[in-house]
Amino acid sequence: MGANHPIRLQSMTTVDTMDTQRSVEQVLSMVASGCEYVRITAPSIKEAQNLEEIKKELRKRGCHVPLVADIHFTPNAAELAARIVEKVRINPGNYADKKRFEIVEYTDSSYEAELEKIRKKFTPLVKICKEYGTAMRIGTNHGSLSDRIMSRYGDTPLGMVESALEFLRICEDFNYHAIVLSMKASNPQVMVQAYRLLVQKLDEEGLKPYPLHLGVTEAGDGEDGRIKSAVGIGTLLEDGLGDTVRVSLTEEPEVEAPVAKIMVDRYANRTTHKAIKPIEESPVNPFIYSRRQAREVFNFGGHHHVPRVIADLSQLQISEYKDLRNIGHFYLPEPDKWRMNDQGADYVYTGDRPINFMLPNGLKEIRNYTVWLTSEDKVNKLPLLTKKQFESVSERHPEINFVRFSIDDLDQKFLTQLQSDLTVIGLLESSNLHAMAEMRRSFFELLQENVLMPVVIARTYPVSDEDTLRIHSATDIGGLFIDGFGDGVMLGVTGEISNDEMLRRAEICNKTAFGILQATRNRMSKTEYISCPSCGRTLFDLQETTAMIRKLTDHLKGVKIGIMGCIVNGPGEMADADYGYVGSGPGRITLYRNKEVVKKNVPSKQAVDELINIMKEDGNWIDPELIEKF
Ligand code: SF4
Repeated sequence: MGANHPIRLQSMTTVDTMDTQRSVEQVLSMVASGCEYVRITAPSIKEAQNLEEIKKELRKRGCHVPLVADIHFTPNAAELAARIVEKVRINPGNYADKKRFEIVEYTDSSYEAELEKIRKKFTPLVKICKEYGTAMRIGTNHGSLSDRIMSRYGDTPLGMVESALEFLRICEDFNYHAIVLSMKASNPQVMVQAYRLLVQKLDEEGLKPYPLHLGVTEAGDGEDGRIKSAVGIGTLLEDGLGDTVRVSLTEEPEVEAPVAKIMVDRYANRTTHKAIKPIEESPVNPFIYSRRQAREVFNFGGHHHVPRVIADLSQLQISEYKDLRNIGHFYLPEPDKWRMNDQGADYVYTGDRPINFMLPNGLKEIRNYTVWLTSEDKVNKLPLLTKKQFESVSERHPEINFVRFSIDDLDQKFLTQLQSDLTVIGLLESSNLHAMAEMRRSFFELLQENVLMPVVIARTYPVSDEDTLRIHSATDIGGLFIDGFGDGVMLGVTGEISNDEMLRRAEICNKTAFGILQATRNRMSKTEYISCPSCGRTLFDLQETTAMIRKLTDHLKGVKIGIMGCIVNGPGEMADADYGYVGSGPGRITLYRNKEVVKKNVPSKQAVDELINIMKEDGNWIDPELIEKF
């Protein structure tokens, strides 16, 4: 791992570590799906010991995949596992600290005394790893920072970095460097900032550029889990950071490596990309989120408009009302009305193929300029101009004119025109293999030249499978939104497929666009599930429970629900969620409101009903029947 090695893919088993046979079978099928390292939980010394049996059996069956022991709270399990497996993962938030989840006031001397305590507890493991040639991951988790770190830094990216550095400095003192670092969080924004800050701090302190293990924790499942993971992991890969990737999905572990592979494979030939002009100085702070300020043009930009979603239908022939279902707009013959769901596109782009029926109120159509010129209705239809048209034509829409451009168009004359025209909305494109970086460079240029027009990020991908489309677009577009860039998204595909197939792609693109905006916290359009991938510690069937909770709550737009197999990652992870459903013992669930425990040890049969009762008490529950489903 690291240096010039490929970016490694890894994942974690979900079965009980004491069940040797099932563990071995699961590892084998994970390896067959592309997993290059396998992590197995060792909550106590007996599981650590059983890693030996698992390893023996695997080697007997010709499988030499490196194994990683996952440790929380139990140094003695770590010290044993380090003699057996290739790598040990420790969580600096709970390796040496007994967490009381309290705000404790630390003086400088009591802080120092705690660090000394850590040194004593951690040193034996460092020595064993050094002696046995075992690697170590110092894996910080946003949700489980120690009381000490919380008291001084809060649950900030800096706190996460410092949490790892406390342990790393001890390793360095012993000249032990077989280390990989991670900074995971369930919020991609926090996670990206923490990794970037870590790299910066390593450099500042003169520490080695240790390999990075990338991951978004509790990403959830299905399309949301993939999009959220790609936004976080992909943004960092685009930055050139990351040596191994673990995608955490609340699905079977064999599913994770193929998803990670889609993220990672696209960098194999990236070095041949068209050069991007270097920057002298970054006009944005990569460690703090701040949205680029754009002027208000209709419902784009300004201070209060959410980023808009434009459905790119230019490759399609839209001839019937029902075709718009794919982008969230539904025609009801009785009572002859249009309705839209929470993910109804705000605009449609039809290029040279205008729609000939009346669109729902509020759904505006964007046409290529020459088509717009010949339109009967030049008020409700909006033009999209090329740079050349923008510079030369006199007939324009009085309020909104979309202009497509790429970095090559940004000469001084064009920039000046964009700056002074109060009706213009940019549609930023790129054909660069390294598109995200080039687009970011374009935003830098706009910032430097003080061009305030709203900008829609427009990406078109060749037809591919659904996951590839989701992951690539979430990486490229999500990364820009993480950096505060973008007032809208337009996502489309090109390729030789039937109109029906294209319509299906339009639906995936539309949902993905909303998913990216949700994952980057720019626009909430659905319930969010922060669910862990499960592991050998899991106290209930996570996949089944998540599916059941999703079924009952997926109409609660904007509500965030945490579903965790156990409390290892702490209620801190729930800081991001409005409600939490956490395994607290066999058949027992503890329910949270934010970080607060509301009901302890509820029998799992009643837990979902109790969760709904808590939402009702808070006035956050709506009966599904009250929401018209179309
Ligand atoms: S939160 Fe989930 S994945 Fe994490 S240790 Fe607990 S059960 Fe395992």
